[in-house]
Amino acid sequence: MARIGGPHYCSRCRTRREVTLPWPHWPLVRRLYVGIALLALPVLPIMLADVFVMTPMVTIYLFAVGPLLGTRRLPVKCRVCGAVVDPAALAPVS
Ligand SMILES: [Zn+2]
Repeated sequence: MARIGGPHYCSRCRTRREVTLPWPHWPLVRRLYVGIALLALPVLPIMLADVFVMTPMVTIYLFAVGPLLGTRRLPVKCRVCGAVVDPAALAPVS
């Protein structure tokens, strides 16, 4: 998920373009993920005892943490060309 940001200078397009910003609620989602995992910790032996249903579901849930933590530093990208834009960069004076 992403949202549209104001114009920033894109060095590839060499002009100011709208950018795609990361969804602002990713930190909340990460905290919820860790909180649910911690709440499920006491019942983990029961979940692991059910080999056919609960163990694969726990495995899928645990493998989801990698992509979720990968959202920590999503880059700001140009909407036109997809280049990574430095939000602090200023347009060159010409
Ligand atoms: Zn661009």
